[in-house]
Amino acid sequence: MSAPAYPWLESTWGQLVRAHQEQRLGHGLLVGGVAGLGQEVLCARLAALLLCEKPGAEAACGSCRGCQWVQADAHPDLQRVTLIARDDGKLKQEIAVDQIRELSRWFALSPHRGGAQVALIDPADRMGAAAANALLKTLEEPAPDRFLILRADQPERLPQTVRSRCQRVLVRLPDADTALQWLAARGHPADQAGEALAVADGHPVEADRLLAEQGMQRLRGVRADLRAMLERKATAQSVARRWLGGDGDQAIRDAVRVVRSLGWDAARGGARLTAPEEFHKLAAWSVRADAARRHLAVPLRHELMLTDLLSAWTEAAGSVRWFDQAASPERGKA
Ligand SMILES: [Zn+2]
Repeated sequence: MSAPAYPWLESTWGQLVRAHQEQRLGHGLLVGGVAGLGQEVLCARLAALLLCEKPGAEAACGSCRGCQWVQADAHPDLQRVTLIARDDGKLKQEIAVDQIRELSRWFALSPHRGGAQVALIDPADRMGAAAANALLKTLEEPAPDRFLILRADQPERLPQTVRSRCQRVLVRLPDADTALQWLAARGHPADQAGEALAVADGHPVEADRLLAEQGMQRLRGVRADLRAMLERKATAQSVARRWLGGDGDQAIRDAVRVVRSLGWDAARGGARLTAPEEFHKLAAWSVRADAARRHLAVPLRHELMLTDLLSAWTEAAGSVRWFDQAASPERGKA
């Protein structure tokens, strides 16, 4: 089996392998941490290791019958539970209680290969209350070699009763050096990678996405607009019109990202800020901007709404000094 695509998973992976070798691995595992760091890769690798019939010291062998079935997504002792499609083809919002009941019945069967039985529930935080409740019964009846792997971006959405019965597996943001090395290996020039990593709050996958989608150019444009309004070189209305002439939703999302990165500087003492309430003003504006995006979904007076939002930006930000210490790879060291 190939090495994890994300180097920052290695330490967590090592802990999981050791726990498995020492038979300390929980019956229920809740895999979370900072969303989007490749948790699904970790879950898949763990399922493969648990079902491998000749596991190596660090991973599944990749060639036994068990591994071949896992690779073909056809292992009889591996069950995946995820959001299913509705009649119109869109995914349902929740994992239904019937899916969990079916899983419980499956768990009650003897394993086909006489080894482990593994269930992957992803996204587990999209289980409704009834589904989570049904899962509780299975979690409360641990059996040797039966594993429930739950992946959740927002584990706090799960009932405490479910969380407390699971071993927590947390994936954290890597340090800047690891992230920058990975971005370099992805083919991004160092200066661009550093800038993107700063705007992405240190999230390497997010930074990679920004760089791949020309997101940094977009962000620079939005940043320039926000600054121009503070310097009174552009009006809220003119910026609102321009943003709506393109992808308005994307522009607001980018604006929130820019503002959060400014606020983050402030929170870490990077910007020349004396009053914490100014940081709260920026945070409050970001929340308002997020809410405004929902209004774009309905065809109603977008320009007025966006002009109001951008006027509120100039009030919230107050001055241009936010941009004087623009987010950069050096930030936070001030
Ligand atoms: Zn194997």
